[in-house]
Amino acid sequence: MQTLMSEKSEIRIGLETHVQLTNLKTKLFCDCSTDYRGKTPNTHTCPVCLGLPGTLPVLNGKAVEDAVMVALALNSKIQEQTLFFRKNYFYPDMPKNYQISQYDKAGGVPIAIGGFVTTQVNHHEKIVRIRRIQLEEDPAKLVHLGPIDISPYTLIDYNRAGISLLEIVTEPDISSPKEARLYLQKLQSILEHLGVSNSRAEGSMRCDANISMAGGNRVEVKNISSFKEVERALNFEIMRQKNLILKDLEVKMETRHWDEARRVTISLRTKESEEDYRYFPEPNLPPITLTEEYLNNVRKMMPELPDSRKRRLIRQCGLPHYNATVITSSKYFADFFEETMKFHRDPKKVSNWMMTDLLKTLHNQNVELEDSKITPRKLAEMIHLIDDGVISGKIAKKLLPQIVETGQSPREIVKRYDLTRITAREEIKELVEEVFSKNEKAVQDTLKDDNAVNYLVGQLMRLSSGRVDPLIANQIIRECLKEIK
Ligand SMILES: [Zn+2]
Repeated sequence: MQTLMSEKSEIRIGLETHVQLTNLKTKLFCDCSTDYRGKTPNTHTCPVCLGLPGTLPVLNGKAVEDAVMVALALNSKIQEQTLFFRKNYFYPDMPKNYQISQYDKAGGVPIAIGGFVTTQVNHHEKIVRIRRIQLEEDPAKLVHLGPIDISPYTLIDYNRAGISLLEIVTEPDISSPKEARLYLQKLQSILEHLGVSNSRAEGSMRCDANISMAGGNRVEVKNISSFKEVERALNFEIMRQKNLILKDLEVKMETRHWDEARRVTISLRTKESEEDYRYFPEPNLPPITLTEEYLNNVRKMMPELPDSRKRRLIRQCGLPHYNATVITSSKYFADFFEETMKFHRDPKKVSNWMMTDLLKTLHNQNVELEDSKITPRKLAEMIHLIDDGVISGKIAKKLLPQIVETGQSPREIVKRYDLTRITAREEIKELVEEVFSKNEKAVQDTLKDDNAVNYLVGQLMRLSSGRVDPLIANQIIRECLKEIK
């Protein structure tokens, strides 16, 4: 079922996502290296990205190719001819005093308009419409000492200035912070599959959000530095606006800054209107013309995207729809699944372990799958140990955090800590006798109350650290009780 934004919905959120094209070797308009992370500040610069007088920009063709791929993946309409515009503003992060960007008014045409992203919200399909996609240069990075509003000085690193950036703007179709997270997760998975942007690189995906409530003024929240912060920032801003509305106060139209450390939004300035930027066409760059032949060539290079991968997994492996959605929510997760399938051919078992216990373990250890020590081969090995009756599912649940943390082989851990299932009757009987001697009252109770047997089974499971099958435990305990009587 498809649900578009309901008219009655109180909260309207639109997102502007800035995505760095991290697969490019050089910046958008010069030959400076894009590999700036962890490098000495202001060493990846040249007269062009420093905006020195007399320098001329030369467009990086690969950036256009990336932008076209993203536009195709987001079902957007690519424009035959597109222009760069100057967005004028006076701020040290852009030494030219303008940013070379694109504009969708005054004769400006961004590289693509329209499109949509489908997400899965509570088992319903939700469509978030895309307004436009534009190509622009990243400004320099400003580093503040502590919070922005009380920092005594600001440091500037121009290594980031001129990096290729895609701005992906949605219509205000998002109606909750959770939906925003799901949209961004899907967008991220699409970009990962295209291979154009590595979301794990610091600052490679940033967000600005527009939020309005009950038809009131729009507030723009800037500087949300990672997707993880988006839900937090939106939750705070919605609460702030709700409180104002409750007190009958006006929600001012303004730009606010998300302070990650204090987890609040703070007012920076009342919002500039678009006229303040005095947009006009960039005279030093010719229009880009994208022919049908060019687009066809890019179409041929398109890799498999999350939605078609999901359909393939459902078709090929018979994965339930929900499992396939979760598995393809990240490229690395889906790759891990398909790799594990090479060592264990039960898609349902593999996906269930990944979606429940593996995700939970990663969350508890606060680590990403990519950084953890578990490999597809090790996960498959663990599931095989359960299949072969060597360990119980319960033991496997205890084993998993250890594999994720240390990368040890499941078989070795089982051997070292003797976690194999106890199947020998004599051995189980010995354990039962020990349970009986420690729980004489419960043994007496079984004469009147059958529930007491369950208590004894529980004690046996505890004593054996879950290494006895509960059904067999129940059976043997009943046999032993009969002998006593
Ligand atoms: Zn440069």
